[in-house]
Amino acid sequence: LNRDEPHHFGAGPAKLPSDVLKQAALDLVNYQGVGLGLGEIGHRTETAINVINDTKKNFKELLNVPDTHEVFFLQGGGTTGFSSVAYNLVANYAKKHDGKKAKLAYAVTGSWSDKAAKEASRLGFDVDVVVDTKEGGYSNIPSYSDWKPIDADSTAYLYVCDNETVNGTEFKEVPDKSYLPENVELVADMSSDILSKKVDVSKYGLIYGGAQKNVGLAGLTIYIIKKSLLEQPTDKEMASYGLPIVPIALHFPSAVKANSTYNTIPIFTCHIMGLVTKKLLDNGGIDAIEKQNNEKAALLYKTLEKYPGFYNIRVANPAVRSNMNVVFTLNSDDVQKRFLSEASEKKLTGLAGHRSVGGIRASLYNAVSLESVKLLVDFINQFAEKNQ
Ligand code: PLP
Repeated sequence: LNRDEPHHFGAGPAKLPSDVLKQAALDLVNYQGVGLGLGEIGHRTETAINVINDTKKNFKELLNVPDTHEVFFLQGGGTTGFSSVAYNLVANYAKKHDGKKAKLAYAVTGSWSDKAAKEASRLGFDVDVVVDTKEGGYSNIPSYSDWKPIDADSTAYLYVCDNETVNGTEFKEVPDKSYLPENVELVADMSSDILSKKVDVSKYGLIYGGAQKNVGLAGLTIYIIKKSLLEQPTDKEMASYGLPIVPIALHFPSAVKANSTYNTIPIFTCHIMGLVTKKLLDNGGIDAIEKQNNEKAALLYKTLEKYPGFYNIRVANPAVRSNMNVVFTLNSDDVQKRFLSEASEKKLTGLAGHRSVGGIRASLYNAVSLESVKLLVDFINQFAEKNQ
């Protein structure tokens, strides 16, 4: 089971710790000596329930999830979150407001929040875009004073994508009361930065994210929801309000009630997340993770800044630069191609930018070590010195 690993900076699905994968590989074939692997047992067996509960426990401990919030898993990835969030929170708003159809506020700060807003709109929800940075190439997050005010009387939630994986911006501060009305819930897509830093969960109505970047494999989506947001009208009431009934596979109350086993949860994928979160806890928990992620990103940005005009960091404002996805360009396609091919010769891989923006993207998720980042930095220095 040994492998010769490159230093992989891919944006996702991303690298996982090799000791976790080795353990998982064994558990895929024969879990705890029962003669069957974790992909082969019923999702409601005691063994499977223990896997779900252990994974949940580790996750809650790492992120310090308060009792006011519930953690559950669904299939479907981040994209399914675009619709599940809108369906469920519109239903909850209707429950609290005599069947009223909610407005949904979206901050469009990159291609993922843009997709989320468009999906909610496509499904017929009443979307209000409060900021849209498309014209500036999604390269900054303006201050809240420049966002359109939220209609506090009719809005269920403000949706943000905490870390824009393609464009390289990240929210470093949660919108405070000066912008976000008290009765409007904050919803965040944390698909690409969940468990990469401390988060005050109590400030959010809902957080969700696919597992495949920082915490595991594709196939599992993590949701953290304020318990008071789980109440919904009956299907009959929803129909009488003229509102869409939530598809059952996306129905949050059913998922919570069934401890994430309303339908078949990928138990093996859940187990990988259990192993990853156990390792993170053993290595010092969220404080240690955040410290290491800050260190990795600071080192990389500082190195790129040494060569202005040769390396161009897409996000000029350091206050909103992503710690997870460092996006930069070189001055021509040819030089970029050479950068990628010489990097690959040094076993520095996964560095090509997203197809929509090009350039270079170094993703520094939890499993990327400081040592790998130091090697990348050495290469960046050498390449600039040789070519600028
Ligand atoms: N949201 C963010 C921030 C992402 O980075 C991604 C994928 O990279 C998605 C949503 C979509 O995730 P999925 O492909 O799991 O649907």
